[in-house]
Amino acid sequence: MNSNEIDIHKELKKYFGFSQFKGLQEQVIKSLLNKENTFVIMPTGGGKSLCYQLPALIQEGTAIIVSPLIALMKNQVDAIRSLSSENGVAHVLNSSLTKTEITQVKKDITSGLTKLLYVAPESLTKDEYVTFLQTVPISFVAIDEAHCISEWGHDFRPEYRNLKHIIKQLGDVPIIGLTATATPKVQEDILKNLDMTDATTFKASFNRPNLYYEVRTKTKNVESDIIRFIKQHKGKSGIIYCLSRKKVEAVAEVLQVNGISAVPYHAGLDAKTRAKHQDMFLMEDVDVVVATIAFGMGIDKPDVRFVIHHDIPKSLESYYQETGRAGRDGGEGHCLAYYSYKDVEKLEKFMSGKPVAEQEIGFALLQEVVAYAETSMSRRRFLLHYFGEEFDDVNGEGADMDDNVRNPKSKVEAIDQVVKL
Ligand code: ADP
Ligand code: MG
Repeated sequence: MNSNEIDIHKELKKYFGFSQFKGLQEQVIKSLLNKENTFVIMPTGGGKSLCYQLPALIQEGTAIIVSPLIALMKNQVDAIRSLSSENGVAHVLNSSLTKTEITQVKKDITSGLTKLLYVAPESLTKDEYVTFLQTVPISFVAIDEAHCISEWGHDFRPEYRNLKHIIKQLGDVPIIGLTATATPKVQEDILKNLDMTDATTFKASFNRPNLYYEVRTKTKNVESDIIRFIKQHKGKSGIIYCLSRKKVEAVAEVLQVNGISAVPYHAGLDAKTRAKHQDMFLMEDVDVVVATIAFGMGIDKPDVRFVIHHDIPKSLESYYQETGRAGRDGGEGHCLAYYSYKDVEKLEKFMSGKPVAEQEIGFALLQEVVAYAETSMSRRRFLLHYFGEEFDDVNGEGADMDDNVRNPKSKVEAIDQVVKL
């Protein structure tokens, strides 16, 4: 693989302008170029896209990239096109294309021009597309956000379950699965469901040493507490997550009334307003976005300085993902969650309307959030342990970056809490 080593560095520079690989990228790329099934677990911002983009660009044939969100696919296609002089180098195949557009996409694939073909999982199930893809050389299939295949993940999508069956129809092509969800259960699910338990696995550390974790008890005064926090971080960008659209609207309004530039973001707003609010945040026309979890997937704003959870999240994976949007540039990122047991009960009540299997998973995930909120140990250690990673809470990077470590609860307080439970 020595010759490859020289080549991939050169190609990295040529296509992306980077002079070094980040983290495990180089090993991952080599594994894929060796036609091995490959499994990549890296935190958000770790540079997973390049792990399939580079091999796709430098190999014969077309790579199929499965991704759950059209917006994400479009972003990536635009980015890839800007690296190349040919528009046809990357395409999206989805239900919104016209007949003419589809013909063009097929033409570009057949002529060997298209190196990356992004498809939504539901499009890939269309016989028409599968039949076509069987006739062209496929370099590999990449499954981005692979945790969507697992009910234990934070974003289960049943269409992902069909992927294995479809990929098999494409012949013997290597698969690369990528996710930022590190729980052992989800990993197992991914490998099993993609039928690639033989995959070479690359797992990066999930520690984010520049993030400060804090949990505060949620009281009636939560809004004024948040306002005070934001005023202490004047002019900084931040995200506030709420569980419901109604809450998003209410909190955004309270902030605005108090002179904080904030906009709401949730799936109930029309697409134009959503896009506008997102752009305002990215362009720094506003400091704060108050949002449901609909906001953030694929958002790459490097200098988000705080992420506040007005309501507790449904799982620690979600919490890690959402807080992970802070401090992507390596600078300060304050992650503050408000916790009250009432909210837990509300969530449980909400879940009780769901099918039993889903309920059980939901309760189990929620109990982990409760344990995190109530723990008096290092929060970083707790989180990383949940992701199957041992963290040295004395010497590890970022060891003092949480409330429990900075202000340890006295024994009396700790006992007091136990009694209350
Ligand atoms: P992920 O999908 O793991 O969340 P992305 O693929 O979106 O991460 O990459 C995150 C950021 O890292 C992007 O801005 C990307 O340009 C940058 N990046 C990726 N690889 C490198 C590299 N080798 N050198 C410098 N920056 C990189
Ligand atoms: Mg990604």
